[in-house]
Amino acid sequence: MKELNKIRYWIFDLDNTLYSATTNVFEKIDKKMCDFIMENLNVSKNEALKIKKEYFHNHGTTLNGLMKKHEIDAHHFLEFVHDIDYDFLKEDLELNLQIKRLPGEKIIFTNGSKKHAKRVIERLGIKNNFDKIFDIVDSDFIPKPGVEPYQKLVKKYDIICHKSIFIEDIARNLKPAHNMGMRTAWIESDDPYCKKGFDGNHIHYTIKNLTEFLKQTNEKIG
Ligand SMILES: [Mg+2]
Repeated sequence: MKELNKIRYWIFDLDNTLYSATTNVFEKIDKKMCDFIMENLNVSKNEALKIKKEYFHNHGTTLNGLMKKHEIDAHHFLEFVHDIDYDFLKEDLELNLQIKRLPGEKIIFTNGSKKHAKRVIERLGIKNNFDKIFDIVDSDFIPKPGVEPYQKLVKKYDIICHKSIFIEDIARNLKPAHNMGMRTAWIESDDPYCKKGFDGNHIHYTIKNLTEFLKQTNEKIG
């Protein structure tokens, strides 16, 4: 963990990384996606669930599948699915403190939208740490783990890869970061989707609790 003292770019995934997967924020978005598919493709709930799952697994995000197969307007989709109640997210003072203490740039890299990211970090009380949010629009709608958004991210913020760490809950999304020379940290999960691609080779740190990891890191490098 000592080697983390060279890190100057702290890149965070958003959903189920900056807040726990035990909150049901993501389920709410999932439900909205399902509603969107029912309304826009004119299908039953069961059919919508199937489509959502299939696109998520085969195209990286549900949105990507919808855009490819149905020419869905991405902005309309993002606006619709993120129109949820964020009350379930609570202020996280300790997380805010530990992020603040990290030396260098802090960046959010998400397959979601900027608006959603801003709402989440506002609710968590950590928004002052992040003036850099790289979202699915910045990614030209190519989701992680496609390599293109990682390259765009690095270019946009002049990131020095060997001075960076990427923290994520979906193991395979860490692979391109690793291949580019970043350190990688995986938020451990039992979810088969999050575990897929976990072979240990491209993951340097496995994290049970993000705040605790950052606290330990700050203590070691401080
Ligand atoms: Mg995530």
